[in-house]
Amino acid sequence: MKIMKFGGTSVGKPERMHQVAELITKDEESKIVVLSALSGTTNTLVNISDALAEGDKKKAKKLIDDLENHYTSFIGELLKKDELKSKAVKIIAEHFEFLNIILRISFSDALNKDILAQGELMSTKLFSIYLEEINVDHLLLPALEFMRIDGNDEPDLKSIKSSLATLLKKNSNKKIFVTQGYICKNKRGEVDNLKRGGSDYTASLIAAAANASVCEIWTDIDGMHNNDPRIVKKTKPIEILSFDEAAELAYFGAKILHPTCIWPAQQSHVPVKLLNTMQPEAKGTTIQDNVETTGAKAVAAKDGIVAIKIKSSRMLLAYGFLRKVFEVFEKYRTPIDMITTSEVAVSLTIDDTNHLKNIIKELEPFGTVEVDKDQTIVSIVGNLIAEEKDMLNKIFKSIKDIPVRMISYGGSRHNVSFLIQDKYKNEMLLAVNKGVFGM
Ligand code: ADP
Ligand code: ASP
Ligand code: MG
Repeated sequence: MKIMKFGGTSVGKPERMHQVAELITKDEESKIVVLSALSGTTNTLVNISDALAEGDKKKAKKLIDDLENHYTSFIGELLKKDELKSKAVKIIAEHFEFLNIILRISFSDALNKDILAQGELMSTKLFSIYLEEINVDHLLLPALEFMRIDGNDEPDLKSIKSSLATLLKKNSNKKIFVTQGYICKNKRGEVDNLKRGGSDYTASLIAAAANASVCEIWTDIDGMHNNDPRIVKKTKPIEILSFDEAAELAYFGAKILHPTCIWPAQQSHVPVKLLNTMQPEAKGTTIQDNVETTGAKAVAAKDGIVAIKIKSSRMLLAYGFLRKVFEVFEKYRTPIDMITTSEVAVSLTIDDTNHLKNIIKELEPFGTVEVDKDQTIVSIVGNLIAEEKDMLNKIFKSIKDIPVRMISYGGSRHNVSFLIQDKYKNEMLLAVNKGVFGM
């Protein structure tokens, strides 16, 4: 069994969906195909939700109507047979009817999640009708029947595994299953999601749950590049990465992967491949156990970071002080990304600022609290990175003109991270590209 996940751009045009159908029928291996929403749809759904939350029904209605028109023309190009076109139009109309009903009821967080789920529900249904048109035997597997998150909004892998196994067993005559990425049900039985970009997470969770041979993430680029291609022109794909390296890159901003999607595949030793739908013959990136290659492989940046410094000459050296600080973050379920300590102060960073006000209030009794907003973490990633002769020297030399707020190395041996102001991000990525990768 293999997993093939196709992102928004890979299904965002009718001809791309045709191509996806070709890719999934190339070999005989059983597969679960995970689809994202058509590119742009989830953004629009977010805008619809935001408009409703603000009480701007007129704006929401216009967004809904424009989106519906987009789907109507999509269907026109996706399908040839009239009866299947009508079937698709009818199905999509039901989803837009739902969105129009929402316009008339009062907005809530649960409703927001229902709105966000429409994209993946529609893309998989359309793809399934296209497979029907070209006579590809398959089954549409509703993700809401097996993808679960627990009370902490974390995937419940045990439950996913058993529900999926039951569904697969019941349909053991099928070889191709199609399902939705991103969406799931929560502890309360409501529709929920795995956060933006979460279809990668779905794929990795299914790969772990089904003990797949490989988890293929098909996207619009030929693998993980050594730098952010949206900012740096000269980048190249990396052929092989360890799970730890890929997890660091994803977490520290390489958008090609959802920040926490690596662990399920890693835990189950399922290799992950990043492949390009538009260039299927390209090698892409393989992410697996036991990667021998060492040295700097890639750099990624995560912006919108907030740095918090707690200064207290009296308490810092006392044992128990850091525990008290961490407990505040734990209370507000806010992960800490980077941390450094000195004799009189501790600095740490967060990217989730939802509870910043309360966190600061609770830290204030410990000492003086300073907050720096608009920061970026730039991480240079590679196995045993700082053990390569001259590597740290190369990194520091390349960024000599950029003011650095914090530095972190040694948490793992495959990551050197710098905290800088957002405004230096592009300059830093370009400088590292030149100084470290010679590009
Ligand atoms: P999908 O819709 O298939 O999930 P995403 O847009 O989420 O695709 O991810 C692919 C995009 O990630 C690429 O188009 C690229 O611009 C961006 N990206 C950012 N950093 C990297 C990187 N280091 N390597 C490859 N792609 C990256
Ligand atoms: N459609 C969702 C999003 O845009 C999930 C995904 O594409 O991975 O975030
Ligand atoms: Mg993505």
